[in-house]
Amino acid sequence: MSFEKLAELIFPNIDKTPEYYIEKYPKRELKEGAVVTRYAPSPTGFQHIGGVFAALINERLASQSEGIFYLRIEDTDQKREVEGAIEDTIKTMHKFGMDFNEGMIGENTEKGSYGPYRQSQRAEIYKSFAKDLIKKGLAYPCFATPEELNELREKQIAEKITPGYYGEYAKYRNLSEEESIEKINNGVPYIIRIKSPGNIENRVEFHDLIKGDISFPESNQDIVIIKGDGLPTYHFAHAIDDALMRTTHVIRGEEWLSSLPIHVQLFEILGFEAPNYAHIPTIMKLDGGSKRKLSKRKDAESAVSYYDEEGYPMVSVIEYLLNIINSTFEEWRAENPKADYHEFLVVLDKMSKSGALFDIVKLNDVSKDVISRMTAEEVYSHYINWAKEYDKEMYELSIANEKMVKEIFNIERECAKPRKDFAKWSDVRGKIFFFFDELFDKEKAHDVELSKNVDLSEAKRIIEAYAKAYSFNTDKETWFNELKAVGAELGYTSDRKAFKKNPEEFKGMVADVAASVRSALAHRTNTPDLYTIMQIMGEDKVRSRFEKFLNI
Ligand code: GLU
Repeated sequence: MSFEKLAELIFPNIDKTPEYYIEKYPKRELKEGAVVTRYAPSPTGFQHIGGVFAALINERLASQSEGIFYLRIEDTDQKREVEGAIEDTIKTMHKFGMDFNEGMIGENTEKGSYGPYRQSQRAEIYKSFAKDLIKKGLAYPCFATPEELNELREKQIAEKITPGYYGEYAKYRNLSEEESIEKINNGVPYIIRIKSPGNIENRVEFHDLIKGDISFPESNQDIVIIKGDGLPTYHFAHAIDDALMRTTHVIRGEEWLSSLPIHVQLFEILGFEAPNYAHIPTIMKLDGGSKRKLSKRKDAESAVSYYDEEGYPMVSVIEYLLNIINSTFEEWRAENPKADYHEFLVVLDKMSKSGALFDIVKLNDVSKDVISRMTAEEVYSHYINWAKEYDKEMYELSIANEKMVKEIFNIERECAKPRKDFAKWSDVRGKIFFFFDELFDKEKAHDVELSKNVDLSEAKRIIEAYAKAYSFNTDKETWFNELKAVGAELGYTSDRKAFKKNPEEFKGMVADVAASVRSALAHRTNTPDLYTIMQIMGEDKVRSRFEKFLNI
């Protein structure tokens, strides 16, 4: 049976056929094994870390195989759209080292010959396919009102049968062409559904590149393909876009896995070959012993802006996500400490099938490693870029004391076991503030940390003696001998064994003397190498700190 007239009535202005588009967007000429992937966000404005995670997998796979990674904007739900969201997505991905070969490159600009890459501008394409399906009797206008659908649902639930619009419950699937035409001419509102040929008794076998072999019952639901506003549903747009844009691998969140029966069927009805699918596990977090989804409302770390504000280098976040994608990344990184992360090969079937666990402590460790591999110059440049936006005071101080700040960043860096003290740029202030009188002088007496074996008056006694003995222009060894000599005079030994044997004979160890010098210079007992700190501060500052300490 043909539904030519009905199709014409519904889509009078559509004069293109599926063949036209299939020819217009031919198979891509890429080298053997090249993968075509896409990032396909809805432009809602909120950049979720899960989006970066999904984009990264897509980008890596395309780029590793010298394929194509493109940006498609899924804006068929126009109520949720936020202005500027496309630019924001592109900027965010760029910041994370991901650039698109094709697709949207701005709010209103795109590149590539498989566009438009914005679904709202593809209405004509979807309609051409819908028109063709109607003609062939594979899709139909459905006139069910929301009340009718509700009633059907309640009845199905009460009778304990699978809810939905299908088979005998699909009241409008078998209307004659004349009946449908009459309703449309009478102005009855409708949407377009497919006439599903599926039978739930049949099982479909499927291979997912992450989840492995799966099977599910065939879909028998007459799903909606074109909504009342003339735009397609996600399902329909997905099938048409990924077919016409010649996507080879659809890599997307596992929340879509349950829709796979529908998608497989749509590809079949449309006469397209289905792409490869990989369903990525959802990013979870441990909360009081149980796993849950990272929540936009509850978890600051779900927003991409969080990493900016805290000052995580973007490479740290990416390396951390690579760790989640393939647990072999860590080993690879240990073996290739200097390599660029792009050299690591992402493999889908090595990915965990269940939830990906997001763990800030692990992120911090990864980030400390990343920062420890940077030169002092790099640290400085990253830091001032961050501070310019998020810590004006530190920014001004760092710019005004560039040489000193670089020296500070150079402490125990570029050596076999570099210091791993910063996980993020917001950690820097707390670790280097004491070099700046402006910040140091704001500290209160109760901020001063002391060695646990030494009280304030004893620490002052140590500093008083040390200030007299201390000479600035010495090498490290002489400096340390001096410190030991001052300690010995006051009853602090450098002989650990002797101390262990007869602790009552000593006040403490030379470490307590060094800790007291740290207290005086930094108000902290745990700092990087003390000799270097004193060299960076210079004699005047060191002496003035001793003075200040004695007057606390
Ligand atoms: N727009 C869909 C989403 O944001 C894309 C899913 C897909 O990659 O196909 O969930």
